[in-house]
Amino acid sequence: MSILVQTVTRCPVCGAEAFSYTEFLYETPYFGNVVVSTGFCRSCGYRFFDVDYAESGNPTRVIFKAENGEDVSKSLVVRSKTGSIKSPDLGFSLEPGPQAEPFVTTVEGLLYRALDYAESLKALEPESARRVDEFIEEVQRAIDSGGFTLIVEDPLGKSVIIPRRPETVRIEPLGST
Ligand SMILES: [Zn+2]
Repeated sequence: MSILVQTVTRCPVCGAEAFSYTEFLYETPYFGNVVVSTGFCRSCGYRFFDVDYAESGNPTRVIFKAENGEDVSKSLVVRSKTGSIKSPDLGFSLEPGPQAEPFVTTVEGLLYRALDYAESLKALEPESARRVDEFIEEVQRAIDSGGFTLIVEDPLGKSVIIPRRPETVRIEPLGST
């Protein structure tokens, strides 16, 4: 990964000179060069996120198998507004929606989000606490040692996994089985 641009500039929404803008370049085995742009305005809170590919636009399903802890901590997930992420093994899914925040994070970071969500669910629904505890234990094991699959689907092909090891990822056109 390399940083192409890192600057603080005028916010396109409120006009304050408080918009931090960064462009990262990732070289990936399947998607060619991927440019991720992120921006955040300290004045009004406006967030910007975009992903650009040398070649893209096709509906894709990315299947990622984490085999060990390093695959988890060193592989990246780029989720656009239209992407969904699920793990049938771990039993969670993240659907796109009107409030879907695009993000880029490590697979580990994604699982920590799932843990945070589980903790808040436990507070809301004490009656399901035992089931949630089991989920939490399983996700913690997955963070430490892998052994699960993540499936990322995006009709615009803008959500990807940038794996630590290329052999852990398989790409299919979406709509095929
Ligand atoms: Zn602003």
